[in-house]
Amino acid sequence: MDFDLTPAQRGMRDALRAFLLRECPIEYVRDCDEAERFPVELFGKLAAQGWLGLPIPEEYGGTGGSCTDLAVFLEELAWHFEAAANCYYTTVVIAADALAHFGTEEQKRALLPRLARGEIRFAFSLSEPNSGSDAASLRTRAVPDGDHWVIHGQKMFCSCAQVADYILLMARSDADAPKHDGITMFLLDPKAPGVEVRRLRKLGLKPMDLNEIFLTAARVPKDAIVGAVNQGWRNVLKTLDYERCCLSAVNVGAAQSCLDKALAYTKEREQFGQKIASFQMSRAKLADMEMEIDAARLLLYRSAGLVDRGIPNNRQSAIANLYSSEAYVRAALNGMRLMGGWGYLMEYDMQRHFRDSKLAEIGGGTSEILRIVISREMLR
Ligand SMILES: Cc1cc2nc3c(=O)[nH]c(=O)nc-3n(C[C@H](O)[C@H](O)[C@H](O)COP(=O)(O)OP(=O)(O)OC[C@H]3O[C@@H](n4cnc5c(N)ncnc54)[C@H](O)[C@@H]3O)c2cc1C
Repeated sequence: MDFDLTPAQRGMRDALRAFLLRECPIEYVRDCDEAERFPVELFGKLAAQGWLGLPIPEEYGGTGGSCTDLAVFLEELAWHFEAAANCYYTTVVIAADALAHFGTEEQKRALLPRLARGEIRFAFSLSEPNSGSDAASLRTRAVPDGDHWVIHGQKMFCSCAQVADYILLMARSDADAPKHDGITMFLLDPKAPGVEVRRLRKLGLKPMDLNEIFLTAARVPKDAIVGAVNQGWRNVLKTLDYERCCLSAVNVGAAQSCLDKALAYTKEREQFGQKIASFQMSRAKLADMEMEIDAARLLLYRSAGLVDRGIPNNRQSAIANLYSSEAYVRAALNGMRLMGGWGYLMEYDMQRHFRDSKLAEIGGGTSEILRIVISREMLR
């Protein structure tokens, strides 16, 4: 099995790296983190360079990258600025994927080229106050009314809703159907009457806003749905492997960034007349980080390769997601240990990884849910 990137993928990564070193300096990352603001300038530049079009098919204004291409892109972006990679995943990738697979021709023509040009952003809203891991038990209700749907309910944990032009909102469109069968994906305008978006305060990933959404008789035109009515849950399941690869790529890139920062620090800092890196216990931590990130990267590219070849890889993508998320959390923790008190200071970047990494074990399914997915596949 060949895990090597193609010359084109290496060229893309090198071009992106040069671009990010120039346009996304660490001061910019710190500034967005401190001000808790979406990296709008960086996204403008990514759009101008055509990077926002990577997950969008060529016929709709994108560059039609494969899952592996996207993994290379997200890994590199996350190395420089993890929150920006999460924002990219949320505002671009999820919608590009959903629209390309399930959107009507009209929706694709209207929305995908604008998404590629950075003119519009999306958010995705599935979770609710009473349905997280058990997402399909959602209660937000959509009822047909003439040429509209009327939506009532409350959504929870919607990333990027503050900066989104559309929310892909999952709501129950058939109250009598079994819980997985009566859900539809709606294209909601967050500024429409009856929609209230409220920002939530959180631990990390500060540039990516997190929100709850209150829906009181919010009206959505009949044609503003993605995919067929009552098929929303099935659509989500069909794109899960691809999305887990994307999340794994973010984890791998961010974990590598932790390791590189820890390595640089331990080669500089001296105690007892020696570099911290010369102590065996420091080296063991560095070796563990290296080993786990290496393994996570291999799992990621195995899974992305399977997606690209159209081979079902529910188990492999869940393994990549689970392993990379826990490897990232451990890398951030080891990074903090290696930096002693200095890692605890806001002027160093390790604390940001320490705060940001935790979401990796929650967002694409918690570690417990991913273990359930893996063991279910094993026991089939
Ligand atoms: C920063 C952030 C951003 C997010 N962005 C989005 C977004 O953009 N859109 C969106 O829709 N959602 C988003 N989410 C929500 C996220 O997907 C959920 O938080 C996640 O699915 C877990 O749901 P929960 O928080 O309700 O936890 P719960 O489901 O209540 O779980 C609590 C604990 O119970 C465990 N548990 C649950 N069921 C089982 C089981 N069967 N067996 C064993 N253990 C179990 C869980 O693993 C966890 O440890 C975001 C969350 C965060 C924190």
